[in-house]
Amino acid sequence: MQITKQIHWHMAHRLLGYDGPCGHLHGHTYRVQAVIDGPLDPGLDMVIDFSHLSRLMRETVDGLLDHATLLSAGDPLVEPLLPYTNRLVLISHNTSAEVIAQVLYNIWSPALLSMSAHVLLSEVRVWETETSSAAANAYVDGCKILWASKWGLPFERCGQIPQSSSWKRPV
Ligand SMILES: [Zn+2]
Repeated sequence: MQITKQIHWHMAHRLLGYDGPCGHLHGHTYRVQAVIDGPLDPGLDMVIDFSHLSRLMRETVDGLLDHATLLSAGDPLVEPLLPYTNRLVLISHNTSAEVIAQVLYNIWSPALLSMSAHVLLSEVRVWETETSSAAANAYVDGCKILWASKWGLPFERCGQIPQSSSWKRPV
């Protein structure tokens, strides 16, 4: 059985070293879809409670990425922007839709496993525009958030995204 959940958010980014319009700081309304595979829970007749899945996704998307500026950690814009925003997020790679999908997959896949041993995150698809999307379907080591000004994480705590205890494993 398969279920999906979609949410959207607004975010600024630019592609570092890219010779084209996306090399300039600009924004998109992004959309992300998580695809979950798993058997029906015999008690609930659900794969996983949509509200639990939604909470997990929103924790990262609303809590971190929405109305943020996403930059690659090596971007020279990081220094000058730092004093002017409390929503700056730096990642290990360039800020393409492919990388954003991979970063989200890497955060949500282990979190989902800890919610239920029977479900699998089979895909995270990110739409940068209505017609352009990229999907990640396996964990790739090293593709992660390095720093988020909102949480004031020190740079050394690479990828250690604080997990809220607000969601619980479905019973
Ligand atoms: Zn763009």
